Amino acid sequence: MPKDRWQILPHCASEADNLDIIVTCDGASSVGQVGNEVAIKLTKEHESARMCCLSAIAAGSKVHQDIAKKARKLIVINGCQLECASKIIRNNGIEPTYEITIAKEGIEKAPTLDFDDEDVERIANKITQEVLKK
Ligand code: SF4
Repeated sequence: MPKDRWQILPHCASEADNLDIIVTCDGASSVGQVGNEVAIKLTKEHESARMCCLSAIAAGSKVHQDIAKKARKLIVINGCQLECASKIIRNNGIEPTYEITIAKEGIEKAPTLDFDDEDVERIANKITQEVLKK
């Protein structure tokens, strides 16, 4: 996509308290990639929702830890039952507003980066109904 058509997102560090912040494990498996694609879709479709860098939180970036703490809502997306994203958040003393684990939503964890777009649509709708619209 040409740069002049990029969707510029709100600045997460300065606007966190007005944003629903989404973090995802982005795991290297079907379910990890469904979670990442869901986070992208929600970020693109909801003006006040935005992905934030989970790796930066895990790496000890205070700026990113503060974004997660200050967020209006903090939505955590895990690929599988290991729930790495939730563990990173809690290890930083932060309680998520909402958590979801893709492998518990009827989607098989497979060693592939491919996924079904219908699964992404279904999970994105579920998160929208259960937390973003509330
Ligand atoms: S929660 Fe599962 S899919 Fe996500 S990073 Fe951890 S092991 Fe990988």
